[in-house]
Amino acid sequence: MYGYLGKILRVDLSAAKVWDEPLNAKYARDFIGGSGLAARYFYDMIDANTDPLSPEAPLFFLTGPLVGTSLTSAGRYSVCARSPLTGIWGEANSGGFFGPELRYAGYDGILITDKAEHPVWLSIVDGKTELHDASDLWGSDIYVTQQRLQQMMGDAKVRVACIGIAGENLVKVSGIANDHGRFAARTGMGAVMGSKLLKAIAVRGSGKIPLFDPEGFKASSNQALALFKDDFSAQSLREAGTASYVNMSHYMGDLPIRYYQVGEWAPADNLSGVDLSEKFLTRNRACHKCVIACGRETKSPAYGDEKVDGPEYETIGAFGSLLMISDLQVPIHASHLCNIYGMDVISLGATIALSFELFERGLLTMSQTDGIELHYGDPDLVFRLIEMTAHRQGFGALLAEGNAALAEYVGAPELAATVNRLEVPMHDPRAFLGMAVTYALSPRGACHMQGDMFGLDVGQGVVEELGLEPGNRHENSIEKGRTSARMQAWRNLYNSLTLCQFENPGAVLLSAAINQVTGWDLKVDDLMSIGKNIVNIKRLLNFKLGLTRANDHLPELLLKPLKDGGTSGKTPDMDLLLAGAYAEFDWDPQTGYPSNVVIRQLGL
Ligand code: SF4
Repeated sequence: MYGYLGKILRVDLSAAKVWDEPLNAKYARDFIGGSGLAARYFYDMIDANTDPLSPEAPLFFLTGPLVGTSLTSAGRYSVCARSPLTGIWGEANSGGFFGPELRYAGYDGILITDKAEHPVWLSIVDGKTELHDASDLWGSDIYVTQQRLQQMMGDAKVRVACIGIAGENLVKVSGIANDHGRFAARTGMGAVMGSKLLKAIAVRGSGKIPLFDPEGFKASSNQALALFKDDFSAQSLREAGTASYVNMSHYMGDLPIRYYQVGEWAPADNLSGVDLSEKFLTRNRACHKCVIACGRETKSPAYGDEKVDGPEYETIGAFGSLLMISDLQVPIHASHLCNIYGMDVISLGATIALSFELFERGLLTMSQTDGIELHYGDPDLVFRLIEMTAHRQGFGALLAEGNAALAEYVGAPELAATVNRLEVPMHDPRAFLGMAVTYALSPRGACHMQGDMFGLDVGQGVVEELGLEPGNRHENSIEKGRTSARMQAWRNLYNSLTLCQFENPGAVLLSAAINQVTGWDLKVDDLMSIGKNIVNIKRLLNFKLGLTRANDHLPELLLKPLKDGGTSGKTPDMDLLLAGAYAEFDWDPQTGYPSNVVIRQLGL
């Protein structure tokens, strides 16, 4: 198989057995890799009775055929499982170097089942695999874990994916870290790894990716490189990171403020990416072969941080404006704490914000919060709650269950800011109505990476040949629903190729690159069909796990118009928008179920 190593590493932790299995070539051809390929495998492996934290629940690390090649930004990996946070399809992906290194070590992915008798870590070095006792690593933070495994293996280039204390404590908003502070953060994949007593996976390899047409691929890679090096969006990301979007986001009403209830707040302008770079940046960080280098390493003198990872735009929203905090040093330090313990900044920020809102409304009292008075705008309180969550200490045990569980606990589910129990990211769906469709239909719950209409409608990620073109961000129409559905299919293709979404070479160059790597003959339109198939396999899996058409909606909180700011008075017309998306995906308007034609295309 060109483009693939053709091998999946199988790990049975109860039996302490590790063995190689051939990659299912048909699945790979149909669903590419990453989360799409994992969903195809999982379709036959899990059902509504699979407890996400039980030993039998599978956990899949997967790459895609471009990962580890010379194509810029082609270095991500996906982690997939049934989510303990949401109960539905869970997927998260991360950049850095772990994905490429896994491929150099000889594997396209790792499929893990069962539970070890005691904490373990797994080493993979050029096809040689071994499980080791991790008892003395249990309780270590993600940085210490990575460093100690590199020391134990005597190689600073060993790449480690690991959980922190939050994953060990089965915190449902915990993620998996690699390459310092890169994270597969969403949907609680850290808790799944923790439930198996698997602390870390360390990989090192020296192999090569088999390419069908090395010369042709080299030309395509060079073309992509030339495109991104000096492109305006790449320059902004390099100069100011993803935080370069903060001011524009605030202006457009996309930046959530005071638990998604305020449209405009002047101090939010203090959270800008330019300020972050000018005052706190110590250096940029890049993933495998990336010329953009959007990653930040920063300092926060006020909290004693000299060189820490982050924060990203999402962290600045979640631990800044959402909590009515306008000092950039707070999201820097909060990001660092979440990194150390291994937690998802979006989910935790949104859960802490809900706790403040509930307290202010009198729906939570000091008798339920360990005597702590909760209110917006207090950095020390935020840091304390992060610590309590990671350790599941007192009230922190409730925060560890996530936003929807907290809203239910106080009997106010209407105040949850989740879609299918995943916390809403820092993009307000009232600012870009196409995002309402993205959130409502995203296979993992509210996710801004499953169809970034906030980017497309301002001219980023345009793919004219596939009908992905900017439009009026406040348009409620069938066509907007259709465009959002196509964007979702396109990004699901990306999630299966495990490509960084900041790399947008267009469908012609991307299909050429895939063909040159794999030897396939994909046409431009095939990319959209495969993307739709990936959305559909995840949808069918979610229906199997208990979702219905009724789950395709937004939380009440986000359907109320805001009084001020760039999105004032605007709300999505969900019926109209979803009708467009259903038509695009060929789903039944009443049941939301994929048509028989779609199901046949999936080969089920
Ligand atoms: S743009 Fe940022 S996230 Fe994407 S590959 Fe480059 S450094 Fe990584």
